[in-house]
Amino acid sequence: MIKIAQSEIQSVLLQLDQAIYNHTQWYNSITRTLVCRLPHDIRDEAEDAYRQCRLGQWYYGSAPEDLRVHPGFIAIETEHRNMHQLAAKLLQSTASGDTISPLDYDSLVNTLERLRLQIYTLKRELEDTLYNLDPLTGANNRIGMLTKLREQLEMVKRHVQSCCIVMMDIDHFKIVNDTYGHSVGDMVLAASAHNVMEHLRPYDKLFRYGGEEFLVCMQNTDMTVGYEVVERVRLGVAANLIDYGGKAPLQISMSFGITSLDQDISVEQSIEHADKAMYAAKMAGRNCTRIWDASM
Ligand code: GH3
Ligand code: MG
Ligand code: MG
Repeated sequence: MIKIAQSEIQSVLLQLDQAIYNHTQWYNSITRTLVCRLPHDIRDEAEDAYRQCRLGQWYYGSAPEDLRVHPGFIAIETEHRNMHQLAAKLLQSTASGDTISPLDYDSLVNTLERLRLQIYTLKRELEDTLYNLDPLTGANNRIGMLTKLREQLEMVKRHVQSCCIVMMDIDHFKIVNDTYGHSVGDMVLAASAHNVMEHLRPYDKLFRYGGEEFLVCMQNTDMTVGYEVVERVRLGVAANLIDYGGKAPLQISMSFGITSLDQDISVEQSIEHADKAMYAAKMAGRNCTRIWDASM
């Protein structure tokens, strides 16, 4: 999964569209230069032409840090560099009166095609990520949640790994809305979700389950570790000062219910267990974590 803010994804998508457009224009002008034997732009000959074009400036300059580690982003580099270097070679050949071999020409066409494919693949993944995010909180929406949990259940059944699921709910959230209004409520909800994500590990997946209720899927996690992570999240949320533009910042807490994904029951039933444990945490005074057991 790509961990990157929604607004950044949108700007990356624009950059990628621009990159496809620019390179199509660029390719057309290179072909024209080669076929008509026109003098070429000296910049296309440079060793680092791939860094100087618009895509290159973005790729090596302002592209978001979180995107740089993504395999789809990394894959673009080689094709893009090869393409510019091949073009430079062909331009130099024609400038010195040589003919271009069909093999070299085909290579140029193929690298452009592969670059386009890499860019489209990355775009597709980013669009999927965007489609699966809840716009208010930036957590995953429920699309894909059951699929993810069922995949995990298969792993549990095959004894490949254990998995914890956590249900969490903001305490007395109605009071926040009633006291400060719905838009401050929205802000608090978004700030809390971001805070939760900061305290989760890269492979923990946060879903917005309902209004102010979230579910976390902790893959490859046993109860001891799962409980520790949840407690870290809980303390982080309770300590977080939320500045909503008023006199003093707001503080909220959350209640948590945790259970292991049980191989003998459906994921829906395991979710119910986590929900019951969360309800027990509410009954125990809120701002605490309860582990599901059969007496609940
Ligand atoms: P408890 O500690 O028992 O969970 O109390 P609570 O007040 O949090 O629970 P309750 O279910 O009574 O109220 C939840 C409130 O959350 C009611 C609903 O209007 C509010 N809410 C749900 N989704 C949103 C949202 O997207 N934005 C805002 N501002 N409020 C929301
Ligand atoms: Mg609540
Ligand atoms: Mg609720």
